[in-house]
Amino acid sequence: MLHHFIKRRRLVVLVAVLGVVALVLLGRWGNARKVGGQGPAEPFRIAGNFYYVGATDASAFLITGPQGHVVLDAGYPTTAKLVMASIAKLGFNISDVKVLLNSEPHPDHGGGLAVLQEASGAQLWASDASAESLASGGDDPDGVLPLRALTWIGVFGYPPPRVDHRFKDGDTIRLGPIALTAHITAGHTRGCTSWSFTVHDGDRTLNVVSACDLGVLATSQYPEQAADRERSIRVLRSLPADIWVTCHARWWGRYRKFVASTTAKNPVDPFIDPEGYRAFLDAAEAELRQGRMH
Ligand SMILES: [Zn+2]
Repeated sequence: MLHHFIKRRRLVVLVAVLGVVALVLLGRWGNARKVGGQGPAEPFRIAGNFYYVGATDASAFLITGPQGHVVLDAGYPTTAKLVMASIAKLGFNISDVKVLLNSEPHPDHGGGLAVLQEASGAQLWASDASAESLASGGDDPDGVLPLRALTWIGVFGYPPPRVDHRFKDGDTIRLGPIALTAHITAGHTRGCTSWSFTVHDGDRTLNVVSACDLGVLATSQYPEQAADRERSIRVLRSLPADIWVTCHARWWGRYRKFVASTTAKNPVDPFIDPEGYRAFLDAAEAELRQGRMH
């Protein structure tokens, strides 16, 4: 009797949890639709050898060089096609992409990496924590069980890319003259990686920061998360940023800055936005202090 009761209670809990997860996902989906979702976006040069090749919201970046190119993030599996079309539209060849990087391994940023890797033969670099998740096709060890279960049965995951190299915090990944420094800014996920590098545009050398997501999802939490976020915000505040971007294009104003760049005297100027970078970090800190999720 007691046994049956416990079994029934477990079932009720499971159904309730699945219901909550479904609502959260539905909410996120609705939100993504509202801000333009994952539709195709015009690729463009941000500055120097640094280009946008992502979708309307899922960011992807191309950094070009004489010894090959780097692509940072790939969107969902279905976004990878858009990324490749954007690279081609800018006049570059996918087979010249030699290095793949990732901000964090959730499906909206790591999902398309395997497709890009297959098309290019590029080597993927990842932090230890991200490497595990990427190589498993998106399993998040801190994810809630129903989501993990959906990943295990192939509903939620993505084709796993091959992780060729792992880096440590502060390592620099080089490809010819391209040099990107990895900052493991944990919080959203344990291996969340921000990147800093410089681009040369005309006679200017500009500092670029690609900041990882700093928010917490209800569906992905772990005990040291608040301390990690605190540290990550501090690290990001210490990085000089003339140009800043994140893995969600709406956060750094992709469309607004792109439109402004088409009429600006110098098309790079609208992307120079240290105030926006500080505001992004201030907002992340406020979210942390108030215990809000996103
Ligand atoms: Zn994420």
